[in-house]
Amino acid sequence: MNSEYHYIGRFAPSPSGPLHFGSLVAALASFLDARSQNGQWLIRIEDLDPPRESPSAPETILKQLKDFELAWDGSVLFQSTRLDAYAAALARLKDRKLTFQCRCSRNKTPSIYPGTCRDAAHAETSAGLPTSTRLRVETCEVSFEDRILGTKTWNLQHQVGDFIIRRKDNLFAYQLAVVVDDAYQNITHIVRGSDLLDSTPRQIFLNQCLDLPQPVYAHLPVILGKDGFKLSKQAMARPISNEDPIRLLRLALKALGQKVIDSVDYSEVLALSILNWDIGQVPKNLSQSITNLSDEDVLK
Ligand code: GLU
Repeated sequence: MNSEYHYIGRFAPSPSGPLHFGSLVAALASFLDARSQNGQWLIRIEDLDPPRESPSAPETILKQLKDFELAWDGSVLFQSTRLDAYAAALARLKDRKLTFQCRCSRNKTPSIYPGTCRDAAHAETSAGLPTSTRLRVETCEVSFEDRILGTKTWNLQHQVGDFIIRRKDNLFAYQLAVVVDDAYQNITHIVRGSDLLDSTPRQIFLNQCLDLPQPVYAHLPVILGKDGFKLSKQAMARPISNEDPIRLLRLALKALGQKVIDSVDYSEVLALSILNWDIGQVPKNLSQSITNLSDEDVLK
């Protein structure tokens, strides 16, 4: 894909369930940021993990975005149609000797990989034991300027470690697919929840390994439910309902630290929120509780 756009943003939900208030906040922020810069805003459905997906979720998510007038550009990209591109990227990394096959059990392995299989010559499946593919992470620092959080720096070897890019069940890992598709869709700006902040050094490193351009990042506070846990589709957070969209829009704007326009006309509030969008006002915390936004018991 080639593009002459100076700004291309995206919202990239995994179809594990309908959108909840936390995903509305992320969708709205990336939408407002793109539209306020006359940019494009794309949708990518990250349907790479069928066991964790709900077959009806893509349709529901797209309907929810339409209900909230978050109109996207072009056609929706489904990651399930992109497996050849991920395989090609994986082959490129293997050719460059940047990968190794790993037999370790994911559950029993510390999150920073201790290097157990790094220098062993395991075939992709050896003696009936499937292997995952890990990317060799070098001793280096990755640093980037987050538009909300400021400078972020990681020591890759000590804080990230060799990470999985293809799972033992042969599914491509999110980290690989996301960088291949962000490059394919010419994404210039990524605005997403801080729950993905730890993924960013992995994605920057993968971009470097694959000679892909690096987008600009902004990480938003994730919304915590009343129980103190992140609202998530897996935890069955309540889907956003289209019954009172302006109320949810107001709450989402409040969560994003934006001016909340006093009007009962949904389209007007949304249009003015594009004009007023100021990413500098987004709270710099990694999370914020839904209880700070509303005292009404409607969201969870
Ligand atoms: N698919 C991921 C999710 O729903 C988001 C990916 C991204 O924004 O990079 O959490």
